[in-house]
Amino acid sequence: MQDLLDAIVSDAMASDDRGKVADYIPELSRVNPNQFGICVATVSGEVYAAGDADTPFSIQSVSKVFALALALGKVGDQLWHRVGREPSGLAFNSLLLLEHENGIPRNPFINAGALVTADTYLADSSPREALGQMVRFVQAACEFEDIRINQNVAQSEIATANRNFALAHYLASFGNLRNSTDKVLGTYCHQCAIDMSCRQLALAGRLLLEGPGMPRLISRERRRRINALMMTCGHYDGSGDFAFRVGLPGKSGVGGGILVIAPGRASIAVWSPGLNQYGNSKLGTEAMETFARKTGWSVFG
Ligand code: GLN
Repeated sequence: MQDLLDAIVSDAMASDDRGKVADYIPELSRVNPNQFGICVATVSGEVYAAGDADTPFSIQSVSKVFALALALGKVGDQLWHRVGREPSGLAFNSLLLLEHENGIPRNPFINAGALVTADTYLADSSPREALGQMVRFVQAACEFEDIRINQNVAQSEIATANRNFALAHYLASFGNLRNSTDKVLGTYCHQCAIDMSCRQLALAGRLLLEGPGMPRLISRERRRRINALMMTCGHYDGSGDFAFRVGLPGKSGVGGGILVIAPGRASIAVWSPGLNQYGNSKLGTEAMETFARKTGWSVFG
């Protein structure tokens, strides 16, 4: 495994087509694109890491996995009255479909669905309390204390979040937000601004694995369902392509991170800031394709 990760890192470092770093959040555009990290945390407790596996990066939409687990923990299946479970086939920040579907976002991993999810885990608490719970949840999953929200990234996103403001107001017009749009957006942008390294993310992802030493934060049924949603919706309009190329559930973020679950085997985190046309890590996706091919790991047997 270590040899495989080292080989993946040298291929990635040699690549001259690294994709394009997200620039619609100004703070993210400052990240050096020549970074690449990968970490594998297995069900038997081994951890393998290579490249920039200990460099913290903005997890962005990977946080939607933790947000979903937290929201389901609070309201259970009631969440599904307000968010769907179908892939959208559209970009992560799309406004389309909401009008025809009465303000019920297609799934919790597109931005519209994540705003409803944030509103759900906010419930009646303050953003500070809710974000504190979120950070503690992630800390408990990865067993690292030093998980922080990057305030510069959060403020940078809030200052430029016109699209997400539009989505939140549109959701509110259908009565699908309980809290004020400012409160929901502030919470959502801070949740996306959590910084984690590949090592921390791979360890946190173990909450979606079954095994004696794995963190027991959610039920088996919920783990399976979240994995199913990651497979069908975790890469937006690139979800089919990721399933085809990698064959494992994954969740991407515009910071260039991807969390991938190989059920029964391992949680894997990969990071490279340059993105492909879907807004998912370009080299991260390619690395996972190589990883899945070489290990033979796939949920499709
Ligand atoms: N915070 C980002 C946004 O809402 C997350 C998007 C992403 O990672 N795909 O635009």
